[in-house]
Amino acid sequence: MKRVLTGIKPTSDNLHIGNYFASIKQIIDFQEIGEYETFMFLANMHSLTAIHDGNFIKENSLSAIKTYLACGINPDKTYIYNPALISAHAELNWVLSCITNVGFMKRMHAYKDALAKDKEEKTTVGTFCYPILMASDILLYDVDYVPVGKDQKQHVEYARDIAGKFNNLFGDTFKLPQAKIVENLATITGIDGRKMSKSYNNYIGLFDENNLLLKKVKSIPTMSLGVNEPKNPDECNVYNILKLFLNFEEDKKIRDGYIQGGLSFKEIKEFLYEKIINFTNPIKEKKENISDEEVQKILKNGNSKVENIANDKIKDIYKKVGFVF
Ligand code: AMP
Repeated sequence: MKRVLTGIKPTSDNLHIGNYFASIKQIIDFQEIGEYETFMFLANMHSLTAIHDGNFIKENSLSAIKTYLACGINPDKTYIYNPALISAHAELNWVLSCITNVGFMKRMHAYKDALAKDKEEKTTVGTFCYPILMASDILLYDVDYVPVGKDQKQHVEYARDIAGKFNNLFGDTFKLPQAKIVENLATITGIDGRKMSKSYNNYIGLFDENNLLLKKVKSIPTMSLGVNEPKNPDECNVYNILKLFLNFEEDKKIRDGYIQGGLSFKEIKEFLYEKIINFTNPIKEKKENISDEEVQKILKNGNSKVENIANDKIKDIYKKVGFVF
């Protein structure tokens, strides 16, 4: 069976719709097809690169798993687990670090962004090396596909390259993973038209209060064109967000409304707000009803299922590099 894996950093208790559509929804789709083994991990080890508050990471980790569940990730069909408790992740991280060149890592754009923002003094070595940990998270499970947004494409390509390098050096060991990026979900825009991101504070949160959602939708800038003037939907950020929620017929109707004129931005924004709350309200309600105990139980169960895969893999790797003889 082919394997599909993804994870989200628990850096806040409120994931946004960019995370949902690029990552969570894809896992749900694969999980429902039934022909894939699906893995959804907690990217808590990645959070530590920037967050140094144990309680914060713990609370957000519980919240992230509740979000996965409330969105529809089914623990009976998908492995939901905590990689920090599976030592093979950190062990493979070291092995891959030893065959990765510094020059290569310096070209990673997430690191370059962090450096531009925080300078060297504030950028951790963990941030510099985090694609290596991500590659370890992927390669340990011989994954075929990694559903991500475009911002993670380079990191998945690195995982593929480093897998190939290891295979060349030590013999065939790793499957070469492939990023799974849905074309129209590659970069989901935020309310200001830039990439939706917590750090730009331009996001639509799955757990934003409804009045905040309304405020955010109202604040999306629109073109200064009259109601009856024809408009290009693809140049409108209200449409860019709205289309995430539309089925084929709805999309056609809205696009026609833009192109032919006669549809006001007020109406479109009202429709977008309605779509967002109809989507987020049931998720909010479901999350409220999931207890910390249930999360602990699901993680324990998930870990017990995947740790054998990871442990067998690291044993093979350790043999190949000469650590076990
Ligand atoms: P992160 O919060 O960085 O752990 O991201 C979790 C997942 O959401 C990754 O697959 C990202 O590529 C994806 N993602 C985050 N923001 C966006 C966005 N604005 N558009 C598309 N995908 C995104």
